[in-house]
Amino acid sequence: MSDKLFLLPGPSRVDRRVPKYLSDAYDEGFMSYNHRSPQVIELIKKTTGIMRKRLNIPADYTITFVSSATECWQIIAQSLIKKKSCHIYNGSFGEKWYNNTVKLGFEAKPVEFDINEDIPVDKIQEIKADTFCITHNETSNGTALSKEEILALRQVQGKAILAVDATSSMAGYKLPFNLADVWYASVQKCFGLPAGMGVLILSPRAVERAFKLNNTNHYNSLVNIINQASQFQTTHTPNVLDIYLMNRVLKKRKNIDKVHEDLKSRYKKIEQTVSENNSVDWLVTNIDKRSYTVLALKYLPNDISIYQLADDTQIVLGKGYGKWKENTFRVANFPALRKREINKLLNFLEVI
Ligand SMILES: *Cc1c(COP(=O)(O)O)cnc(C)c1O
Repeated sequence: MSDKLFLLPGPSRVDRRVPKYLSDAYDEGFMSYNHRSPQVIELIKKTTGIMRKRLNIPADYTITFVSSATECWQIIAQSLIKKKSCHIYNGSFGEKWYNNTVKLGFEAKPVEFDINEDIPVDKIQEIKADTFCITHNETSNGTALSKEEILALRQVQGKAILAVDATSSMAGYKLPFNLADVWYASVQKCFGLPAGMGVLILSPRAVERAFKLNNTNHYNSLVNIINQASQFQTTHTPNVLDIYLMNRVLKKRKNIDKVHEDLKSRYKKIEQTVSENNSVDWLVTNIDKRSYTVLALKYLPNDISIYQLADDTQIVLGKGYGKWKENTFRVANFPALRKREINKLLNFLEVI
């Protein structure tokens, strides 16, 4: 492994056992097996099983493998939105999802809200849409939605499909799966895996909507994905290697309840350190809105670059993103980071 400490919020530091698992995958034939072979079917079966167990995914939710989170924007638009979607966001990823849906020809309604505030549920109550789209963890500005906000949204728009981008929180946060119908992520964030695969999780209601619309025009039409998933298969040749790595990495991980608590307590330590240093501050002033997994910070002195300081100590920070590009830097607090790496980060945040 490189001597550098990668704190980028995706692609991010992979689980430290990945090199060994790669070599095991080769030895066990998983780089060569046909994706419709019994070995790969068995692997997908085992992997979705371990995901369900580790991440507390409800038994009646369907777990599927796709290519990326970005692909899910398109799948949702083409296979789940009936006529109109509503996109509620406070940052770049939610906005990109909205723009992507508009470009695909849908009537989409944007609802922007402030990074220090909750989702404006009162305003949303009036909106007529069949699909509501939210970003659980907004990677561009380090905010996360609370379970209460998702519940409130569900209560005012109970009939609609609720779709959640959880790309930088799934496998890091304990997610309230039962409060929404669609949850998706890419594996290069909290899963600690090499980039190149997405995970799409569906409630029975989402499956029902997909079959009702029955759109089969695309290679990645959801009904095809669901039909294949029921046989532990995919519509395309999937990233079998990433599925293998996911199985091995999750086997070693603790249940998400524990992972969530661990990340929260690390976040608290970082919060404490930042509060003791006048040179660094948070982008998000409302503590309740801050994410535990992606931290957006400001370095206040303007005579030296924070990236230069980090580079001097072999730390690679994430750059700011979107409209926060210039005035923030981002740090991942993902499960694959080891205790001594977090200690190195804490030390860096103390001395800068
Ligand atoms: C990283 C990220 C994406 C895009 O993921 P890809 O793997 O590049 O498709 C989408 N949404 C959020 C919130 C992200 O953090």
